[in-house]
Amino acid sequence: MTVGEREDISIGSFWEASVGQIKEDRQLVGEAVFDVAVIGAGITGLSAALKLAEAGASVCVLEARRVGWGASGRNGGFCCFGGTKLSEQEMVRKFGEDEAKRFVAYQLEAIETVSDRLNRFGMDVDRHSSGEMILAHRPRDAAGFQDDADYLNKTFGLGVRVLGVDELNEEGICGPEFHGGMHMPHGFALNPMKYVQALAQAVRDAGGRIYSHTEVLGLAEERDEWRVSTRFGGVRATRVVLAGNGYSREQVPEWLGGRLMPVMSSVMVTRPMSDDELAAQGWTSDMMSADSRILLHYFRLMPDNRFLFGTRGGIFETPEAMKTMQKRGRADFERMFPSWADVETEHAWHGHVCLAKDLTAYVGPIPEMAGVFGAMAYHGSGVAMASLSGEKVADMILGKIRADDLPGVISKPFSKFPFPALRQLYLQGAYWYYGWKDR
Ligand SMILES: Cc1cc2nc3c(=O)[nH]c(=O)nc-3n(C[C@H](O)[C@H](O)[C@H](O)COP(=O)(O)OP(=O)(O)OC[C@H]3O[C@@H](n4cnc5c(N)ncnc54)[C@H](O)[C@@H]3O)c2cc1C
Repeated sequence: MTVGEREDISIGSFWEASVGQIKEDRQLVGEAVFDVAVIGAGITGLSAALKLAEAGASVCVLEARRVGWGASGRNGGFCCFGGTKLSEQEMVRKFGEDEAKRFVAYQLEAIETVSDRLNRFGMDVDRHSSGEMILAHRPRDAAGFQDDADYLNKTFGLGVRVLGVDELNEEGICGPEFHGGMHMPHGFALNPMKYVQALAQAVRDAGGRIYSHTEVLGLAEERDEWRVSTRFGGVRATRVVLAGNGYSREQVPEWLGGRLMPVMSSVMVTRPMSDDELAAQGWTSDMMSADSRILLHYFRLMPDNRFLFGTRGGIFETPEAMKTMQKRGRADFERMFPSWADVETEHAWHGHVCLAKDLTAYVGPIPEMAGVFGAMAYHGSGVAMASLSGEKVADMILGKIRADDLPGVISKPFSKFPFPALRQLYLQGAYWYYGWKDR
């Protein structure tokens, strides 16, 4: 690539189409000096940059493609609990009840952070849905919901409600695979590309600089600062934020090598449906929902009557693997919503969800790299988590909080996957096992 050359980076998502023209920030050519260099213009990086710029720091965001090109502009738009693959019960066993409670409070704060931002900046993101519904895909899962709800309400005071099939149908939630529901009252849905673009504009307005088409190729300590090298120049900064998540380069910096596992999630969006089509399926609710599978499906009816349907589980990103994953997603959609079997898919795409060996996110300083911080690996639920975690990293840089002020669940640096070169292969084995368990 030569200076100024632009590759075609659109991914064919509904979100891209819904925002029209996406602003392209200029490329970094030459040398620059900032207090803080942030690597990655997704929700994490932009949230950190916004807080820093508002506090008066000089900050730049270096983005390999353009704002929201990574998971932040591709996701399902569920602003909800997340950041770990551990259940609340597993968190209590591993970290103790107090730490699990601190992490639940952190997740609630994360959702509030997004909500406050939408209000503060007047962000128009097609918000809808009051909370989230988990739908039992087997009768035996429905049978366990009441115990789960009692535990969550007693231990964490979450206000979870269990619904039978009749109650679900009354709420406009209906399908042959739904045997009961568990409603979590927290969270809402949004158009993620509108959110991340609005966030970027807030950063620009606060004086932060965003560079697009500026991939970071290396990070080196030079005297008391870091030199962040890019294809056509570099930045010197005393502080650096790693916010590349599942799109990070494996060895930038070297510490990341073998510690992250990008896996695929794919999304399809139908054409808008008529009221008669919605009534035929019995699904008229705007509730964001997911099923109870380990390799879950997530879905929601959007304000313009398009239906979004997402699938988890792919590991390899070859064109053939992605075609198979999208075909499987479409087949699952038709099985779960049979009245819509003829409703066309208008947009289908995929992206990287980021996992770590310990199944929890990490937010804090990078070991043995003084002045370098990171927040990543939200395990497929980062809209809210990345919004708050980016801010928390900024607070650490500003000296407002210390790393151990965060819940223990997300403040232990990732360990490496054993035999990192084989990590995709053994995850493939785990996915076969989960697929079998989900039946
Ligand atoms: C298909 C899909 C569906 C999802 N659905 C949901 C959902 O409904 N709800 C939810 O909460 N979460 C969801 N997620 C997860 C969520 O999108 C992510 O957790 C969140 O967006 C992470 O934000 P981020 O800023 O950390 O990373 P990203 O948004 O991935 O941004 C990282 C950016 O860093 C850039 N970058 C990486 N390396 C470099 C480098 N060396 N130099 C310069 N730039 C670099 C990349 O180009 C990228 O733009 C989903 C993810 C996917 C893929």
